[in-house]
Amino acid sequence: MSRTAESGISPDVLARYEAVIGLEVHAQLKTASKIFCSCSTRFGDAPNKNVCPICLGLPGTLPVINRRAVELAVRASLALGAEVQRRSRFARKNYFYPDLPKGYQISMYELPLATGGHLEIEFDGQTKRIGITRLHMEEDAAKALHEGFPDSDRATYVDYNRCGIPLVEIVSEPDLRSPAEAQAYLEELKQILEYIDVSDCNMEEGSLRCDANVSVRPRGDGKFGTKSEVKNLNSFRYLARALEYEIERQIGVLEQGGTITQETRLWNLATGRTEPMRSKEHAHDYRYFPEPDLLPVEISRAWEQEILAAMPELPAARRLRFAEQYGVTHYDARVLCATRELADYFEAVVKAGAPAKTASNWIQGELLRRLKEAGVEKPGERVAPGEVAALVGRVESGSITAASGKQVFARMFETGEGAEKIIAAEGLGQISDTTEIERVVREIIEREPANVAKYRAGNEGVLKFFVGQVMRATRGQANPQLVNDTVKRLLAG
Ligand code: ADP
Ligand code: ZN
Ligand code: MG
Repeated sequence: MSRTAESGISPDVLARYEAVIGLEVHAQLKTASKIFCSCSTRFGDAPNKNVCPICLGLPGTLPVINRRAVELAVRASLALGAEVQRRSRFARKNYFYPDLPKGYQISMYELPLATGGHLEIEFDGQTKRIGITRLHMEEDAAKALHEGFPDSDRATYVDYNRCGIPLVEIVSEPDLRSPAEAQAYLEELKQILEYIDVSDCNMEEGSLRCDANVSVRPRGDGKFGTKSEVKNLNSFRYLARALEYEIERQIGVLEQGGTITQETRLWNLATGRTEPMRSKEHAHDYRYFPEPDLLPVEISRAWEQEILAAMPELPAARRLRFAEQYGVTHYDARVLCATRELADYFEAVVKAGAPAKTASNWIQGELLRRLKEAGVEKPGERVAPGEVAALVGRVESGSITAASGKQVFARMFETGEGAEKIIAAEGLGQISDTTEIERVVREIIEREPANVAKYRAGNEGVLKFFVGQVMRATRGQANPQLVNDTVKRLLAG
């Protein structure tokens, strides 16, 4: 591994240590308006368009909780098997920075929304349960723009559109043992939040963000080492790379007889390193205290039950069901259930009559590849599920070859036209299978002894009649030349 070369630590030494990782994930809740005001949450609007006295923290304004945000956060809690607290409370987290106009962030602290959940990751063919410590709600801060302006060397601009966007923070137990496990956890969590429609989890737009806490300890050691917290990990790849770097850095420090400082570090994409941001000595004292302007959040058992009853099928359950109900492999089930849209698409193709395994092969072999190439996200945007089923039906019945089928699929994807239309237009529906044509010709010969006699007596004109009959029986789909030849041959025999 190139990392090893860079850190200069031998694989033997690395193998003597074990990493311990816990993730803090922030997901933007899918609401139309902000958490404490009615400003829009739309992404990509002109800077400072979606602001009002409340989210700008002007004196004399009061926050009002967005009920939909609470509902979504409860849904996320339940999907993760966490215990929703009957009563939770917002708190003020005080710090001074221009991205926070009020001078504090409204978050939850000693009374979070939910505690004690878990999710399962599949790793090396095994399932591992990762504990979730707690889920809480908070508002996002504004976005400080340090670069890209003529006076960026002197000034920082601030876009308050993000300020007050509802977030849920999901804190894991330190149960993860490698960068790959951390990645698997984040992937599973993202899939769950997307399935239940709680967040769109768009990492590029910042609606899913992750901070990683990591420490190392000699393998077999009972207690955890001192951790550092790595921020700014906005992709799966960076998460894994930053953790790999940080783990080796810590091992390097320990191997040289040093000690790890508890600190916050920033992943620097340009250098591929983590760099110290602030250490605990200079750490903020956030001076948390209960938010006096908001009532405690009360969630009745009835409301919780209502939210639970409306919970869609979760990805893990759906994967299991696919394997059982459709007989696809676990691997295939995982691919097909990657998004709820794709899983729905697969089920629609099967419902329209395609055998499940064949549908799975066409979706994985033809559809996914083309979607990826074209940069299209919605599985049904180009080819409707019914059309895949129609095409599969043609190939399965042998009325077109598998090769033609792929050709037709490519055309369907390009043009959005239906399978039958393309098959007809390209003459692919022709029956060129000799045995099939022979079977039909024999049938007609048996049915028409008088005309056979006429032909054999020298009336060549009857040939046309026979060809016509075959074409009719095959609804015009037989290859005419082949029909002609077959009729001649069999009448002669
Ligand atoms: P802090 O008080 O610094 O906020 P917490 O105990 O609240 O620390 O934990 C924050 C995150 O760090 C959690 O995701 C937790 O799983 C993780 N964590 C805690 N201790 C360790 C450790 N020794 N090594 C790695 N991760 C840890
Ligand atoms: Zn506002
Ligand atoms: Mg903490």
